[in-house]
Amino acid sequence: MKVISDPNQVALVDRSLAAVWHPCTQMKHHESFPLIAITKGKGAWLYDENGNALLDCISSWWTNLFGHSNPRINNAITQQLEKIEHVMLAGFTHPPVVELSEKLSALTNGNLGHVFYASDGASAVEIALKMSHHFWQLNGKPQKKKFVCLENGYHGETLGALAVTDVAIFREAYGSMLQDVYTTSSPDARKAKSGKSAEDVVKQAIEDLEQLLKKNHGLIAAIIVEPLVQCAGQMAMYSPEYLRLVRELCDRYEVHLIADEIAVGCGRSGKFFACEHAGIWPDFLTLSKGISGGYLPLSLCMTTEKIYRAFYSDQTRHGFLHSHSYTGNPLACAAALACLEIFETENILEQNKVRSKDLEHAFIWAKTDSRIEHWRQQGMILAFDIKNENIKKPSTFAREMFLHGLTERVLIRPIGNTIYVMPPYILSPEETAQMGSAIQLALEKVLA
Ligand SMILES: *Cc1c(COP(=O)(O)O)cnc(C)c1O
Repeated sequence: MKVISDPNQVALVDRSLAAVWHPCTQMKHHESFPLIAITKGKGAWLYDENGNALLDCISSWWTNLFGHSNPRINNAITQQLEKIEHVMLAGFTHPPVVELSEKLSALTNGNLGHVFYASDGASAVEIALKMSHHFWQLNGKPQKKKFVCLENGYHGETLGALAVTDVAIFREAYGSMLQDVYTTSSPDARKAKSGKSAEDVVKQAIEDLEQLLKKNHGLIAAIIVEPLVQCAGQMAMYSPEYLRLVRELCDRYEVHLIADEIAVGCGRSGKFFACEHAGIWPDFLTLSKGISGGYLPLSLCMTTEKIYRAFYSDQTRHGFLHSHSYTGNPLACAAALACLEIFETENILEQNKVRSKDLEHAFIWAKTDSRIEHWRQQGMILAFDIKNENIKKPSTFAREMFLHGLTERVLIRPIGNTIYVMPPYILSPEETAQMGSAIQLALEKVLA
């Protein structure tokens, strides 16, 4: 690290570049690409050191549901801070974690009545994978230990989660560290080409999965999917029918279904859990990102009575011996409870039906633009792709869009040629419209 003699003489971003290794970043790109220091947030707006405002169209990496510095969440955390900030969850419990578990379980009508906590999303995925694996051992089927994942799926970047992730750029360097998995076709509706429909794509994906399960189910513990939207995989969307059929196959072939709702849960898809669109429950459901309103690291894996019972025994080693230091942190649980309360008292899921209509209208221009394809929306996620022939330099398109977004005062982070928005559930109709026209202007400049 470069030693900075007088920090007051050096810009915060330069000190950051000297001392902080930023995530998901080629640090050298910052030689020509700005790093932005945010010193304040209010509602959907972020403010930099100089007071410049940016509309946060992607909810701070898909986490923020009710705005920055939300009075109700702030208050809940402050209140909890006066009581107990943290206590280990092994051998101890506390009011926020009990209440949160009860509330979440009730949201699944008791179908997923046991909640295991961690701190980040990838850890919740690890927990689901390990629980499934261990369940089959406890049930005398230790050979059922492989996982099935979807083409283009994303489940996090720790080694277990990365193994079931199919995004090349994240896996490339680490392939030899990862366990072997089966990767099956994605039901991504964009694959419907030359006379094929989205239903045909689902049918094909199900046929492929059935072939795989028929042949190998004796070796397979679970399949992991992102319900309805493969978010990191360029917001690839698909029909709930796929989930319903996967549930049937899992039942027929005795394979667990893991629904990774870390990005699509907490109302993002239009219902609280995305699985509800298909009228199914998985064996494991993971949540993180939005659950604490984007305030504090919190993740969890919910599961069924059947799974829970399998671990219940006089023998210690039959228990699920997994832990993280900050598992079920009281402050994070208090933030999550405040979020659930906002969902209830402000009727958020109903309100979001109106908000997603606003969103559609704000981007109606993109539906008919001949340079754009695959316009799609699921609840509070809207995305479209810029056709490759219209992009001069594909390798820098996303970064250029980000830059021109800044000029138009919007924070967006396109993935490849996909532009998407995933805003917090608090935008006024005017802010939503402003977001649409700012992104249109930015796009015109990049494509000019
Ligand atoms: C973000 C994400 C994860 C990983 O969560 P982290 O908190 O970043 O570890 C896992 N699965 C899905 C679907 C995600 O979008």
